[in-house]
Amino acid sequence: MSKESKLAPLVLIVSGPSGSGKSTLVQRILELPGTMPSVSCTTRSRRATEATGKCYDFVTVEEFDAMVARGEFLEYARVFGKHSYGTPKKWLDESRKNGLDLVLEIDVQGAAQVKEKLPESVAIFILPPSRAELERRLRGRGQDSDEEIARRLAKARDEIAAAARFYDYCILNEDVKRAGDEAQAIVIAIRCSAERRRPRVKELLASFGGED
Ligand code: 5GP
Repeated sequence: MSKESKLAPLVLIVSGPSGSGKSTLVQRILELPGTMPSVSCTTRSRRATEATGKCYDFVTVEEFDAMVARGEFLEYARVFGKHSYGTPKKWLDESRKNGLDLVLEIDVQGAAQVKEKLPESVAIFILPPSRAELERRLRGRGQDSDEEIARRLAKARDEIAAAARFYDYCILNEDVKRAGDEAQAIVIAIRCSAERRRPRVKELLASFGGED
């Protein structure tokens, strides 16, 4: 394909309440060739279950604030009123340089900022089947205190209400296999959209001798 006819890679935002299973669904999207993850910076400390540098780039509050001051974030937010999380712009540059669709696992506040800056980005929201099931999953993880679980459930309510406002797709995560298939199907369908195929169609027509 010629350089001029290349479209910018997709920016795929995935959000959902904690316990909605979004990390698993993000992994399913990342199984698709032509994708890459964004690694967020956070000021929260690493959980015992998290390998260094894999899920997050763990930074100090000072380091985070310095990155904000240098304008290094595409978006950033304070989540649960406690810790800061942000998407470094460098991942967007990487994705464009390598022609890979970028996958951002971020909260609703961050998604709103990315949608504002990059209106062509695609936002997918992951819904839990019910409040009771979400609570059961959060308790099952055994990683949060009662207070933290209450905070996460309250945030889930607000996020689900926000989801209806600007997300492009919603996946109901009742069955993890089906939800993963749906997440992949969404990405594949966007890649096949007539708009994104236009450069290829043009090229194909050129091989036929061009448009009239
Ligand atoms: P956790 O601490 O459970 O890993 O994540 C808490 C919340 O922060 C999740 O909703 C997660 O999607 C969100 N989050 C993770 N990285 C970012 C980021 O870079 N920006 C924003 N705005 N939210 C993030």
